[in-house]
Amino acid sequence: MAQEREVDLLVAGAGPAGMTAALVASLQGLSVLICEKSHQVGGTGSTSAGTLWIPGNHQSKRAGFDDSAAKAEEYLDALIGSAAKRELRTAYLQTGPAAIDYLESNSEVKFAPCGRHPDYRSNIKGAAVSGRAIIPQPFDGRLLGADFTRLRPPIPEYMLFGGMMIGKADIPALVGRFRSLANFSYAARLLARYAGDRLRYPRGTRLMMGNALAARLFYSLKQHGVEILFKAPIAAVAAQNGRVVGATIETADGEIHVNAAKGVVLATGGYGHNKTYRDAFMPRPVPVHSMASEFNQGDGIAIGERLGARIAPEESGHSGLWTPASVTTRAGGGKGLYPHLLLDRAKPGLIAVNARGERFVNEAVSYHDFVEAMFAANAKASSNTSSCIPCYLICDARFIKKYGLGVVYPGAGNLRRLLQAGYLKRGNTLETLAAAFGIDAAGLRQTVERHNGFARIGIDADFGKGETELNRFNGDPSHEPNPCIGALATAPYYGLEIWPADIAVSTGLSTDAHARVLDNDRQPIPGLYACGNDMASIMCGAYPGPGTTLGPGVVFAYRAAMHAAGKAPLEEAINGD
Ligand SMILES: Cc1cc2nc3c(=O)[nH]c(=O)nc-3n(C[C@H](O)[C@H](O)[C@H](O)COP(=O)(O)OP(=O)(O)OC[C@H]3O[C@@H](n4cnc5c(N)ncnc54)[C@H](O)[C@@H]3O)c2cc1C
Repeated sequence: MAQEREVDLLVAGAGPAGMTAALVASLQGLSVLICEKSHQVGGTGSTSAGTLWIPGNHQSKRAGFDDSAAKAEEYLDALIGSAAKRELRTAYLQTGPAAIDYLESNSEVKFAPCGRHPDYRSNIKGAAVSGRAIIPQPFDGRLLGADFTRLRPPIPEYMLFGGMMIGKADIPALVGRFRSLANFSYAARLLARYAGDRLRYPRGTRLMMGNALAARLFYSLKQHGVEILFKAPIAAVAAQNGRVVGATIETADGEIHVNAAKGVVLATGGYGHNKTYRDAFMPRPVPVHSMASEFNQGDGIAIGERLGARIAPEESGHSGLWTPASVTTRAGGGKGLYPHLLLDRAKPGLIAVNARGERFVNEAVSYHDFVEAMFAANAKASSNTSSCIPCYLICDARFIKKYGLGVVYPGAGNLRRLLQAGYLKRGNTLETLAAAFGIDAAGLRQTVERHNGFARIGIDADFGKGETELNRFNGDPSHEPNPCIGALATAPYYGLEIWPADIAVSTGLSTDAHARVLDNDRQPIPGLYACGNDMASIMCGAYPGPGTTLGPGVVFAYRAAMHAAGKAPLEEAINGD
């Protein structure tokens, strides 16, 4: 006999989007149940950098950073065009700051301004250099008690010593730990805390970035008594007279039929690990790597599709939100992926080349734009000899010691294991390095010589590396004349193979501004909501700035929950203030 449950709202998926929807609905007085496919909360969000792009947010304003939703609207119109999904973007801009304040005022979900963190197309009108991005405040995982193990950990590539999280702000003190007493004692405090943690916990409990976001949402849900069923995937929704009134959940003890008077929120994280959807939606060659949680198998999208929902690849334009990734070999065996988001590509003395050894992109563009350039150059490639998938990041000995490369940390202490594992390749000359990758040696030498000429004058005549705020932000400000261009001249030379990987997907269920799923006639399916990566991205395949997926994920989860509760979402007029 299947079990029966009665709630107001059922939320499928305990990532940032699902947990936000559940928390807001609970705060609005609804009885809420979350069903989660894995044994942990957090999803991909737990492993993310945790940044939210919230134009006009009050946290940044209070810290003295000037921004407005009106400027962001101008930027988005220029970047995406005003034809597709503008109504949703308007709702997003109107609600973003208020939704964040609502969470801060009513729960333990708290944020801090990122300060300077340029938009990814910082040369387009309306782009901001600072004030738009916020990050979750660090969280003490010990507060979760025994439920700490219910929180999905970050990827090993993001942790030091097998379990210690560090934030961007920690890096200067850790790298420069022997340069000043203040740095040394800061680094010593971090290590002491971590050592203490490891006596009692499987990993460090000083949680940062996306792990802090997931932990804060989870902690708040616990405080409000919201129940989460683990290992309990949603399998199907039940509809009566066209209205979604509940769902079937699968568990090891059999099915549970949930009657959900106010509806069902699909927040199962998109289709990152669904081969059929990848083949249908993604560019060619279909990328083989995904950084999404392995549990994200397109279940929400499939459920919507079975109900006649509109899937929006044609509106999205592009189907994924990308990062260049290197394939790591993990200490205990197995493969991982390292996302080359911001630490190495923009630094002076690194180039990205294709199989001919030629550059094809400004290496310092955003991770998303870098991969879009891989696809574009690969599509134009006349043969395998000029293909860009994979491409290669190339640097010299001085660079790798100073800045690191992928999972090679600055200081370059861990090269031997990575060379042996084949993650990193080395050549005493550019020619031997090219041979190690099977790329054109003469082409690589020619490219490096031309690039070294650019380094001398500080101008990249081919791709303009170092010309935008974003480029320079991730470059090395102490390097002159251009913080992003330096010569590759000190043997040995090093390189990595780079593949496209999705950190999020853009194609999903079409919704209205209340996150209600639309059918093929663009009418809402009553009682069915989608948010996070199950909802088609409002950015139509563009990646305007840091936090492009978590920002809308949280804001539309808030809007979905408010709608289900029969309340108007808090909104602010879009003006220039
Ligand atoms: C390295 C990295 C860094 C990133 N940094 C950022 C960043 O700084 N800012 C940003 O905006 N984005 C970032 N992203 C992307 C971001 O993490 C995702 O877009 C975001 O987590 C999506 O949230 P979600 O709630 O939709 O899905 P998820 O976080 O993946 O959560 C989905 C949940 O649904 C569960 N689930 C799946 N199927 C079912 C089912 N049938 N029933 C019930 N539950 C189910 C999953 O187990 C999972 O727990 C990053 C991603 C990566 C990989």
